[in-house]
Amino acid sequence: MQTAFYNTGSIYLLLKHPHIILNSNIRMEVIRDKAEMRAWSRRMRRDGKSLVLVPTMGYLHEGHLSLVREARSHADVIVVSVYVNPGQFAPSEDLSTYPSDMQGDLQKLSQMGVVQAVFCPRNLYDYDSPGPLAVPPRHHLSVVSGEEQAQISCIEKESAHETWIKVERLEKGMCGASRPVFFRGVATVVTKLFHIVEPDVAIFGKKDYQQWRIISRMVRDLDFAIEIVGSEIVREADGLAMSSRNVRLSPRNRKQALSIYKALSEAKVGVSKGRILSQEIKDSIVQTVSDSGGRMDYVEIVEQESLTPVEKIDCSVVICIAAWFGDVRLIDNMEIDAPAVL
Ligand code: AMP
Repeated sequence: MQTAFYNTGSIYLLLKHPHIILNSNIRMEVIRDKAEMRAWSRRMRRDGKSLVLVPTMGYLHEGHLSLVREARSHADVIVVSVYVNPGQFAPSEDLSTYPSDMQGDLQKLSQMGVVQAVFCPRNLYDYDSPGPLAVPPRHHLSVVSGEEQAQISCIEKESAHETWIKVERLEKGMCGASRPVFFRGVATVVTKLFHIVEPDVAIFGKKDYQQWRIISRMVRDLDFAIEIVGSEIVREADGLAMSSRNVRLSPRNRKQALSIYKALSEAKVGVSKGRILSQEIKDSIVQTVSDSGGRMDYVEIVEQESLTPVEKIDCSVVICIAAWFGDVRLIDNMEIDAPAVL
């Protein structure tokens, strides 16, 4: 058993004694073990409760908390998972510098007073018995080229895990083009979380638009009995989309990063005035972001569900951007619904 109950005064005790049970009005269980998580969920179900899962990688901000608020209207019991998934990071990416603050996360979730369980596994790829047919780790980073490293995740480095979920077409463009193992890793860890938590509903932020669409497609294609809900982007007062990575921006880069929201907002106004040629809009966006000092990774204008690029905005689209500010890569997007452009 690796369960703890948690209230705001108990952080120290929780971290020191993960099994400690504290009395409070709102009992939030902190579960580290996957079998325990599954057993907990099943107990809830036996009691007739429906479950909603909010998957996160922690370092929680208002964007994450808005998903928890959204979750309240979708099921009886809210489970939040906090797990930085090595399966979606290539060895060259920022897994080692990804911010974390478990203590702060538990405090924020506890203060909301609506979360019944936090699932924070140590390692989701640590299998008790590899079995006779398990393969040894296939890639040793010291002997693979830089190009090959982009094609493997941090998991291949040290685990015999070899099963991956790929949403073939949707994962190819945009973030999938610059991060070849990213969506394979996301779809796989989300599948693992779904099998462990067994929720009825799961909430994803539209901030990660392509991710939300990929998970929705995966759930449809593989007949998961789970409803996927997309929740709106939460921004800072000045428009910057909230992200755990924002904390790594220097003050200068933080200012420059505002160009993303500026470019997206200008594009939306432009469209409402009849400027509907995608290439023209993308050129302006690239200009705005580059002028600020940012380095564009991609900008795409795609149909909202299929994520197919459009030449003209004559249907509901989303403009998706990824750009670098210093060594921090940020993503953002803006939906433009068809009625606004017809
Ligand atoms: P992450 O911890 O970055 O993996 O994000 C966990 C979930 O929170 C994902 O579904 C994200 O889309 C969502 N999320 C992150 N930032 C925001 C935001 N600013 N607004 C809404 N949802 C967000």
